[in-house]
Amino acid sequence: MMSLLASHHRLAALLLQGASTCASLALMLAIFAPLEYVFSVRRAGLFAKGWSTNLGWYFVNAFTTTLLLGPPSVLIAWVIHAALPDQVTQASAALPLWMRMVLAMVVGEVGFYWGHRWSHRFPLLWRFHAVHHSATHINFLVNTRAHPIDVVFTRLCGLVLLYATGLTSTVGPNPTLIPALVLFVGSMWSFFIHANLRVRLGPLEELIATPAFHHWHHTYDDHKDHNFSSMLPFMDRVFGTFYLPKAWPAEYGTATPMPEDLIGQLLEPLARTPRPASPAPPKPAKAAGEV
Ligand SMILES: [Zn+2]
Ligand SMILES: [Zn+2]
Repeated sequence: MMSLLASHHRLAALLLQGASTCASLALMLAIFAPLEYVFSVRRAGLFAKGWSTNLGWYFVNAFTTTLLLGPPSVLIAWVIHAALPDQVTQASAALPLWMRMVLAMVVGEVGFYWGHRWSHRFPLLWRFHAVHHSATHINFLVNTRAHPIDVVFTRLCGLVLLYATGLTSTVGPNPTLIPALVLFVGSMWSFFIHANLRVRLGPLEELIATPAFHHWHHTYDDHKDHNFSSMLPFMDRVFGTFYLPKAWPAEYGTATPMPEDLIGQLLEPLARTPRPASPAPPKPAKAAGEV
């Protein structure tokens, strides 16, 4: 009887998650589809090459990220909190919530920046991250074209620093509030910076990541190893990887071979064939003017 109830609860939770995943997708479609239609960098429409693979990744990651991220983040949080001096925890606890939130965004971004940069630098990590860079047309849904191992790795890099600074340890009755907020705001912004939107924010582009900033990260030419930040471009300024001309990239993608279908992309990084880290493209591509 108990196990029947438990399986009913699991089924109900699964259905609820399925419904909220579909509702989130519908909301993002309602926001981005008309904007991308009117203000597109390139006219390609919603059903540009790779759209079904992106959609598949959206559902795969919606159901796997929390599941895969949960156990290692709980373990890391426990180990770090046990080792953290009380003074650090108390100093963080004394700060107002808004300041902890701002600091958490910056600290989380430092971790994410280096996790992302290492994903380009080290062949083992690049195997998984190359899935994200295999898109040759960029729109908001490309944000979800990412292997779960890649997603979990870069998020853990951000979370480790959050835990190590004590910013997450004493937020009222719910200590997961700050990491959850940082991850939520970060993932919402990630949809925006992938969007096929011809928006430029002038001097503000130094402060906050925009589609142009991240599209240059997806370029096929020599500037591909730039712009690793997800929200705060000054990280790239500080670490010498900022690149943001007035033009838009001429071509997107990577020289790393990658199957076009979802199952192929899920399995390719697990194959034993070694791949060079973020390899140089075979031919240089010229930057295009704003189209
Ligand atoms: Zn990347
Ligand atoms: Zn991207």
